[in-house]
Amino acid sequence: MKREVVVIGGGAAGMQTALRLAERGIRATIVEKESELGGKLKGWHRLFPSFTPAEELLAELRRRVEAARIEVLASAEVVSLAPGRVVLAGGETIECRAIALCSGFDLFDARIKEEYGYGIYDNVFTSADIERMFNEGRVTMADGRRPRRIALLHCVGSRDEKVCQSHCSRVCCITGVKQAMELRQLFPEADLFNFYMDIRMFGPGYEEMYRQAQQRDNIHFVRGRISEASPTIDGRLQIKAEDTLTGRPLRMSVDMLVLLVGMRAGGSNAAFAASAGVRRAASGFLEPEDLFLNSARSGVEGIFYAGTVTAPKNVGETLNEANVAADAIEAYLKNGR
Ligand code: SF4
Repeated sequence: MKREVVVIGGGAAGMQTALRLAERGIRATIVEKESELGGKLKGWHRLFPSFTPAEELLAELRRRVEAARIEVLASAEVVSLAPGRVVLAGGETIECRAIALCSGFDLFDARIKEEYGYGIYDNVFTSADIERMFNEGRVTMADGRRPRRIALLHCVGSRDEKVCQSHCSRVCCITGVKQAMELRQLFPEADLFNFYMDIRMFGPGYEEMYRQAQQRDNIHFVRGRISEASPTIDGRLQIKAEDTLTGRPLRMSVDMLVLLVGMRAGGSNAAFAASAGVRRAASGFLEPEDLFLNSARSGVEGIFYAGTVTAPKNVGETLNEANVAADAIEAYLKNGR
């Protein structure tokens, strides 16, 4: 098969890259390992800071992809690539003039942090579970009761050398604030606590949300890391932490514990780096040719990046990067650079 541009990954970055290329009259083929487009947006409920339904953005991106008649190869996994060539799991090879790597990130597996009891105790959830439960319209404890006290724990699988994830995932602080605010809507009577190491509110409107969460929604923020969670005899969870502002140890019983899981490098990055010769950082994310002047270029001819394949990012940044990548691809196809 011969194609002009192959876009690897059909999430927000991949769809937007293909759309921008189509606007420029360049035909792209999206190769998506799952059966439908959407990537991580599929499981998300609302986007910060506007609380826009993720489904709204996803539906619009899908509609545009369809309207632009962009070719999509679904349920097709890329196992290796090289300049001008992409190899699929079945052995099929696609030849092309350029490749956009938009394969995204993986969520940290919370079971690795055994001390929090995810997958072991009832009522320990990840932030991804909570998004799914919001979407299903059913946020309850395992026995169907309404929670009276909820703790959200930041930095699970991020900024943690013990699990080889030293980087900050950037978006989980604001996700913790957003989810606490959505939980407040559902449970006006509940006590809500966010346990954090630092609060990182880097995006537009984020700091305002953080203030609103405290002042309007009465959400408590405790600087401290939970060291462990264990079940109590009355079906609750006891969490142990240290309040690092006062230096005092703290024990608390909660009905639900939400683990804000970080973004880790995509599982395919190692194979892509090995086969294509692109650079991979110690974090596992792929390194652009130049962070400032050529962030969409990989440094290997004809291979470009967009989105979280290079680092954790929010959806807005991802879509902007997709446009930058498409522009760089257009320049490459025209000028060979
Ligand atoms: S964004 Fe916040 S919760 Fe996420 S890793 Fe960074 S400091 Fe931790």
